[in-house]
Amino acid sequence: MTDPVFNQIAIVGAGLIGASIARAAVAYGAAGSVSLYDASETVRSRAATIGLGDVADDLGTAVANADCVLLCVPVGALEPVAAEAVPMMKAGAILTDVGSVKVQAASALAAAADGRVHIVPGHPIAGTEQSGPEAGFATLFRNAWHILTPLAEQGEGYAEAVSRLEAFWTRLGATVETMDAARHDRVLAITSHLPHLIAFNIVATAFDMETVEEGEVVKYSAGGFRDFTRIAASDPVMWRDVFLNNKDAVLECLGRFSEDLAALQRAIRWGDGETLFNEFTRARSIRKAIIDAGQDSGAVNFGRNLPKGDKDESA
Ligand code: NAP
Repeated sequence: MTDPVFNQIAIVGAGLIGASIARAAVAYGAAGSVSLYDASETVRSRAATIGLGDVADDLGTAVANADCVLLCVPVGALEPVAAEAVPMMKAGAILTDVGSVKVQAASALAAAADGRVHIVPGHPIAGTEQSGPEAGFATLFRNAWHILTPLAEQGEGYAEAVSRLEAFWTRLGATVETMDAARHDRVLAITSHLPHLIAFNIVATAFDMETVEEGEVVKYSAGGFRDFTRIAASDPVMWRDVFLNNKDAVLECLGRFSEDLAALQRAIRWGDGETLFNEFTRARSIRKAIIDAGQDSGAVNFGRNLPKGDKDESA
């Protein structure tokens, strides 16, 4: 069997992403052992019950012997957690994170730097709408991108630390790409942050509308609404922190989006079918490009429909 990339990793924050890393690191032999810490006593006890690794009662015990510490907490918690963890880490160890915003993560982690540990921010482009330790699974990162946003002008051993972290994520099944943090935040603003904002908003609007009953929104949700509800079911703390910390890029995208929405509104008002047809045709080709790039299944209706003749009578 291939040697693990790290003898020991420490995961801080045992939620969806932390638990998935713990599971994947063991399943694919990326780490010899996994220690975990979470601020919540309940989460620690749940993580221990489902066997995620060696669950510590304090941060220092979890990180002390780790070759790589992965901060898997909401973006707004990165700065205090990094400040507390770094002085207790081994010299030469790597400190990374999985936060969905990278300019802020880089400054939060860099603020804790003491010249002894290598700081390499990162973000797996993988996830689900669930949270908590039980939501984690080993295959989450397979065939997904993992973006590393290394800091500029670092000292001796930094390039090797970046390579080892890249080897770790590759072992979990991800394809690693290196990117400038500001560019990451602009790209993710349109591909992830704005879609979540739209989903949160459409779900809120539908439930606030005076002309439809709540029961009808649920009953006829297959008309498209339910696909938004999956995204809108995502963790509110995580997403609050994303919008508070990627403000400029999100507001820039939202401005463009609002202009384009106003153009569609005008086309509907004036019966401009040609504009509607052209815009919808362009949008449809992007869905095809995503499937061709292997970023989603091409199965009809996300593969929800039962096979022919296998009708679910309970529905
Ligand atoms: P999650 O399931 O809610 O897990 C986060 C865990 O961190 C929770 O158990 C939370 O405990 C704990 N925590 C909060 N503050 C802490 C602190 N100061 N010290 C130790 N533990 C603390 O969230 P997640 O979905 O795994 O997200 C974690 C990170 O991954 C976020 O930065 C997010 O941006 C990033 N990310 C998420 C996704 C996704 O799809 N979910 C994808 C890529 C990246 P409490 O619940 O008690 O607060």
